[in-house]
Parts: sequence; structure tokens; C-alpha cells
Amino acid sequence: MAQTIEISDHITVGTLAEQLTMPVSRLITELMKNGVMATVNERIDFDTAQIIIDELGMDVELVKQEAAQKIIPKTKKVYEDLEKTTSRPPVVAVMGHVDHGKTSLLDAIRGAKVAESEAGGITQHITAYQVEHNNRAITFLDTPGHEAFAAIREHGAHLTDIVVIVIAADDGVKPQTSEAIRFARKAGSKIIVAINKIDKAGADQNKIKQQLSDDNLLIEEWGGDIVVVPVSAKTKDGIDNLLDMILLVSDVEDLRAENDLPATGLIIESHTQKGRGPVAHALVENGTMKRGDYIVAGSTYAKIRNLETPDGKVILTATPSTPVVITGFKTLPEFGDEFETVENERLARSKAQDKSDERQSGSGRSALDSTDLIKMINRSNKLTTFDVVIKADVQGSLTSVSDSLKALATDEVAVRVVGSGVGVVNENDIHLAHTTDAVIYAFNIEVPANIRRLANRDKVVIREYKVIYELIDNAKEELTRLLTPDIVETELAKMKVKGIFNTTKTAIICGGEITKGKLSLPATARITRGKEKVGEAEVTNLKKGAQDVNEVNEGEMCGISLKTDKKLELLENDSIEFLRRETVERKL
Ligand code: GDP
Repeated sequence: MAQTIEISDHITVGTLAEQLTMPVSRLITELMKNGVMATVNERIDFDTAQIIIDELGMDVELVKQEAAQKIIPKTKKVYEDLEKTTSRPPVVAVMGHVDHGKTSLLDAIRGAKVAESEAGGITQHITAYQVEHNNRAITFLDTPGHEAFAAIREHGAHLTDIVVIVIAADDGVKPQTSEAIRFARKAGSKIIVAINKIDKAGADQNKIKQQLSDDNLLIEEWGGDIVVVPVSAKTKDGIDNLLDMILLVSDVEDLRAENDLPATGLIIESHTQKGRGPVAHALVENGTMKRGDYIVAGSTYAKIRNLETPDGKVILTATPSTPVVITGFKTLPEFGDEFETVENERLARSKAQDKSDERQSGSGRSALDSTDLIKMINRSNKLTTFDVVIKADVQGSLTSVSDSLKALATDEVAVRVVGSGVGVVNENDIHLAHTTDAVIYAFNIEVPANIRRLANRDKVVIREYKVIYELIDNAKEELTRLLTPDIVETELAKMKVKGIFNTTKTAIICGGEITKGKLSLPATARITRGKEKVGEAEVTNLKKGAQDVNEVNEGEMCGISLKTDKKLELLENDSIEFLRRETVERKL
């Protein structure tokens, strides 16, 4: 009977080797044989571990431990003691197809101009802000727009009560619109459709309503429950109406929370800031957060030193649905980490340590996932990788960049992230890139002059980007270059050999009649005798009579010079088929 080993979602290479009672070096070698470079402390996921065990031919079956706590979709919480609860502002995300006006709409709502100051007009990472409408607060998550941010968008949807799906009136429902609708549904959020750009000629609202019903979203007007609000982010028409509708939907939902509890919520962004250390953007989901509280987020903790609104206003407390900026963390918490405030430092430290141990033992984030590995095994070690070190300004961008790069993998080529981190490019990155022959992608960060010099000296390439899809495009180009080109053969002509004039070790001159097609250079000659294959040679020269020519047509006699690798014996009446071999660049 197969031995069973219980592991959680992930396991470090070291622990797996221990459980399998095999030397860790052997396991690492086995992983390497399958194109996976993993160190002893690297985590591999459940399926990867099982695949490797099977590859090793071991009779061991992995069994999954109870899954670790995950971010669960919002479900309407039922409060037993309504007295203890208070209404809370709705948390709203704006999603939709690129260029349909998400950023412009968020700007119009906020009354600020952010889009123009951002590289390429694309919001690079998630933040949040609150606006007041009719003396009530609404919290907006500033969700990124480009499809490369799918990972963040998915997390974004988990946080939200209401998702505003933006559809440009002149463009209609697009793939990303449908994707956003799916995300919103999966997260259990309410959907409001904002038909944007109604100021533009060619706007056709009815067509969009029809497309929405094709996507199973039946609008109120047609007897369904989806609120549709026509807006123009440009002229600001309909913005007030949209905000009214958001408040109406949240009233119907009766969104509540308990203020009188320790705060819990989610980290939505983190980065290191000069002079301030780790800075985290978080959304309080329940309870009240106070300056000076002890807070645990993932495997790190803080005594909250500064508590601020996203626009930098100092606050002393934050109630549910409030976006906050926190300083005081020992290390950077990660995007998507859940947080809670606790009574004292001792508790904070021990909870953070527990989480850290749990992640070490393998239930944390996956370093390599099984789909990558399956692909790698399938192509039996033929995988070619483009190795990179990624540095980014904030954790959200880092996750998006590395997820998007990993998603480029095919059966033959893949981006391998040999190192990554938040913050400026440093000496270690150069060293790592140098030893692994990797390119450094610096996303939205500065590269200090001394580091640039070091990179120059070590011939390490640093590529800097501010727009994620430009970075992805660059990686795509690199991967395309790694693809072995296709060789396409075209048949040019056929010839019957009538005479052999000269034969040396590596050259033959012969003559004959072109029986089919047109022969021109360059060409390869494939020689056959009856059914027997004699060999191949390159055609180096063509002659009609004594004259060198570029081409010979069907029915014409010619003389040809052939160059061979090894001695070929050519006989009268042999057949020659002429081919042209061309390499065709492949696309990813
Ligand atoms: P995003 O990619 O969804 O964030 O879209 P943006 O907010 O960057 O908008 C894309 C383009 O549409 C920009 O050129 C905007 O100026 C334009 N745009 C956005 N909203 C409107 C609108 O209501 N009317 C018109 N005419 N143009 C708009």
C-alpha cells in the first residue's frame, strides 16, 4: 500500500525531502532535471510535489491537510445583535475594459486629476479613497485597469460590496467587461453598470443593454435587478446619479459592521518610503483601528505609529470601510494579507511568528505552481527560460508583474523569476543577476547611480519600465527570440540526372533536364535512386551551357554544382528533388 504523507497547500523542498527520507540534494536534482530551479527553502505546491514523487517512482501519496484560511467572498453577514452594529459605507470597485474610462470616472468622482500624472494613464497599483455624497461616505478602491492586473483585480473584487462596471457607450461590452462581471459575481458583489462617454457621438445605450442581457445581466428597465446609470466622466453628467445609486444599493443591502471590536481587514498595498519605513495601505472591514494599536498583518506586526487617510490627513481612529495608511511595521506586509489589531506587543509578535512559521512550513504563497511544472515535464527538459530579477515599487505591482510574466509560459519557453522584491535595485540584485545571467526588470523605481555603474561593470542589463504592458511586451519579445524557428520546406523542381562531369570528395558537377518546376538558388538537392535515398547536397551553381544562370525552367537542360558534406556517389538516371528550406520566426 502506498505510504501517505499529509501536507498543506505548499511545502518547502527541505521539508518534503525530510518527509520522503531522501537527501535534499537528490530532490533538488530531480526538480532541476524537470527544469525547476528550487532551493531548499523554496516552496512548491501540492500538485508539484506529487508530480515529482511520481517522477521519482516512489509509492507515496500526498494528502491535503485542511486548507489554510483563505480570503472568502463577501457574503452578507447576519448579525445576531443588531444593536451592536452600525451602518457602514459601501466599498466600491470600478472595473471594465481598458480605455472605457475607469480612471477618468474615478477622477471625476474624486474631483482630482490623477490619470494625467500616471505613466501611460494606467493606474499602476491599487489604493483606495473615500468621498462624501449627501453627507454619507463611499469608499472607492482605485482598481487598476490593464488586463495584466487581473491578479489584483480579482483580490480587489473580494473586498468590494459593489462593483461599478464601466462600459464605453461607443464601444460596448468587451472581453474584459465580461471578465469583470465574472469577477464581481464570484466575489458576491452587487453590480451597477455605468455606461460612460454618453457625450460622444455614436453612443448606443440600447445595444449595450442588449449585450448585457446576453451576458445574463438583466437591467431594471427590462425587469431585472441591474441598475444602469448613463454617465460622462468628461462632462460629469450622471456622476451624482451614479453616487445616488451606489448609496441606494448599499441601503438595500443594509451594509453593517461592529465598531466596538478590534479592527480586522485587508492590506491592499505596501511599499517602503524613505524616512518612513514600511508603509501599508489597508482597508478596515470590521471594528475600530486606533493609532497606537498593535496590529498583525501576515507575518509582520506593528505598533501603529501614524494613522492617516490615503490623502495624508492624520486620524486617530478608523471605523469599518475606512481606507487607511499605516506606518510602524517591522517589515513590509504583503498585498492581500489579512490584518487584526491585538491587545499587546507580545501577542502581535507571537501571531506574526506563527504566520511566518506556517509560511515556512509551506502553506504560504506558492513559489512554483504545478501547471508550470506539468508543462516543463511535458516538454521533456526542452524548456528554454528567460531569467529575470524583478524589482518593483510596491507589492501589488510586483505580484502583477510576476504573475503576468509567468502567464507567458508556453511548452517551450518561459520567464523564470530568479529573484524579486520591493524597493530600489541594490547590490544583491546585481550580484544575483550576474551569477544567474538574468536581466533585471525595474518597475516604477529609480536605479541609483552607483548601482548602474556596478551593473555596467558586471554587464548586467537593467530594464526600467513605468507601464506594465511595455514590460510584458519586452519579455514576450525575449521569449519569441528563444523559440526555435520553424523550418519550412518548399519543393522547387525535379531533375533527372543525365551525366556526371566531375566528382570530388565534397563536390559534384552533373547535368540533366528539369522535369518539373523551376530551379533557382538557394536550393538543397535531395537525391534518390528508385526508392533508395542517396543523400542531400547544397546547390552552389547553375549553368545553361557554359553560362552561369539564376534559374532554369521546366523542360530545360542545365548543369549544376553540388556541395556535399561527405562523399556521395551520383549515377546517371538518379532523381534529384530540389527544395528550399526557410526558417520562419515563430510568434509567442
Ligand atoms: P481606463 O483605461 O478605463 O482607465 O480609461 P481612461 O479613464 O484612461 O479613459 C480612456 C480614454 O477615454 C481617455 O482618453 C479619456 O479621456 C476618454 N474618456 C473617458 N471618459 C470619457 C467620457 O465620458 N467622454 C469622452 N468623450 N471621453 C472619455
